[in-house]
Amino acid sequence: MGSSWKDQFADAPDVLKTTPDQTTVVRAGSVFIGGGDFVTMAGPCSVETERQLMETAERVAAAGARVLRGGAFKPRSSPYAFQGLGLAGLKLLAAARERTGLAVVTEVMAAADAPLIAEYADILQIGSRSMENYALLEAAARTGRPILLKRGMVATVADLLRSAQCIASYGNPNVILCERGIRTFETSTRNTFDVGGLTVLKEVCRLPVIADPSHAAGRRSLVPALARSAVAAGADGLIVEVHPHPEEAWSDGEQSLNFSEFGTMMADLAPWCELRAACRYALETVA
Ligand code: PEP
Ligand code: MN
Repeated sequence: MGSSWKDQFADAPDVLKTTPDQTTVVRAGSVFIGGGDFVTMAGPCSVETERQLMETAERVAAAGARVLRGGAFKPRSSPYAFQGLGLAGLKLLAAARERTGLAVVTEVMAAADAPLIAEYADILQIGSRSMENYALLEAAARTGRPILLKRGMVATVADLLRSAQCIASYGNPNVILCERGIRTFETSTRNTFDVGGLTVLKEVCRLPVIADPSHAAGRRSLVPALARSAVAAGADGLIVEVHPHPEEAWSDGEQSLNFSEFGTMMADLAPWCELRAACRYALETVA
């Protein structure tokens, strides 16, 4: 790592690489993230109904996803929007895991909810709006579950690493970082997907890094291309919103893929993932 990086990220010593190929592999159930396999997490923005979740879980598993996403506690910009099913949503996620074998990731918004959510989920998601809620980071870390830490929408790479360090400092090194787009002057996408930041993370940080093209794009037509760029930049996986009928979704329908769009995206990504693995193998055998 260059000495300028060392100064810039000095607050995150335990998550920085000490050798160029140092990696932390995070295990969630039978899924390993950061170990070389490209792992896709997919599912609805919000858990809505049993039928919606089960159907989605089965279809995303069939298309190659390994982890089911779905919000039961939702951080909504409006207090009048759907806030999530809460405990009932957690129970549906656990039932979907039973049925499909997918691991489950879901968001924790309040420190007090962390132990309960940890009983149902394999990975606890810290949302963008919560990245610097240190009491929440501590409570989530102390459950011992792996943490999916999303970059705050106005957070720098150094800020993100500082929050990751915070989780590690509570004795939980199992952190997956997520680039989900940041606020810039650009308004044609919901957020600006920071592929440069993702690249920096892959260079300096030992933790797995995934991309969320859905919240970056804000519209479904852009999601597959952003996903492809994440593969090319070396991301360890994706988290993508998928819904049986996106136009009827209770949240984030505009950026959700339907089953057919998700299947096409997964098929399109496969050769890019293979190419990347082949390049890595070639480099390793040359070295
Ligand atoms: C989500 O994953 O549905 C979500 C709210 O994401 P973010 O925290 O990145 O906005
Ligand atoms: Mn969402």
